Amino acid sequence: MNGSGWIGLFLFIFALALSASAAENLTAHFIDVSQGDSILLQFNEKSLLIDGGPPEMGPRLEEYLREQNVSHLDLLILTHPHDDHIGGLIAVLADLPVKQAMDNGENDSSLIYKRFRAFMEKKNISYAPAYAGQEIDLDPALKIEVLWPPQGGLSGGVKLSRHAAMKNPWESIVVRALSGDMNQNSLVLRLTYDRISLLFMADADTVVEKSLVSSGINLSSQILKVGHHGGTSASSPEFLEKVRPAVSVISVGEGNYYGYPTERTLSNLEAAGSSIYRTDTCGDIIITTDGLSYSLSSEKNC
Ligand SMILES: [Zn+2]
Repeated sequence: MNGSGWIGLFLFIFALALSASAAENLTAHFIDVSQGDSILLQFNEKSLLIDGGPPEMGPRLEEYLREQNVSHLDLLILTHPHDDHIGGLIAVLADLPVKQAMDNGENDSSLIYKRFRAFMEKKNISYAPAYAGQEIDLDPALKIEVLWPPQGGLSGGVKLSRHAAMKNPWESIVVRALSGDMNQNSLVLRLTYDRISLLFMADADTVVEKSLVSSGINLSSQILKVGHHGGTSASSPEFLEKVRPAVSVISVGEGNYYGYPTERTLSNLEAAGSSIYRTDTCGDIIITTDGLSYSLSSEKNC
């Protein structure tokens, strides 16, 4: 090799070293909010919060965000307006600056959801419902796909419930009970950073899983936030076969009333060869990745 060849090789190695050292870490915090979901994602000085756990966990969530030096949120996502997902977000919205917010477009008639939306107006937060087929633009290095729900909701039943909500809140509760439930309209997100993917199922059930599988969309993800707190209504073997998660995270409260996670879900995850981490036994679960490999740590030994 002549002199210029050596210089070229040196520059090439130098560029490789630079690109390796420039790789940012993505950190996913599955925060222990007892019976509920709350996930903080941090990347390149940006923060995204998905759900906020139940209302009584607001102060714990705020403390956690403070500990992570989160002074504002670039994006706040509500997967669906059930109490165990929307509750803690009210305290966060009251105290932290939020640039942008998204939800599943359910437009729920509950008081707590009205409070949630009132913050959008009051604090001038840019708000839009998200739906399948969109990509969320948080950072050019991250691909965040919205996989569910379809635009306009899952079915006519859900649309009817929205219409009824305007006329009569009680009627809306009855229609909603008859037309399945809000879990089927949960926002499902798949985040990919280079070669690592994380799939966030919120409270989506097997109806959603079936639709996703039959759509043929790529679900393959090393890390799965298990649907519906490990309840039997989610995590079917057919779905897990497509996801093939190495790690499954279950966000669930100790001794919860529903008996989550169920034995059936746990055995489905085990049969799929996935390692299981639960917030009721592990506390906060933190996954860090540079896009090529990942590491996991937890608050408690589990
Ligand atoms: Zn839930």
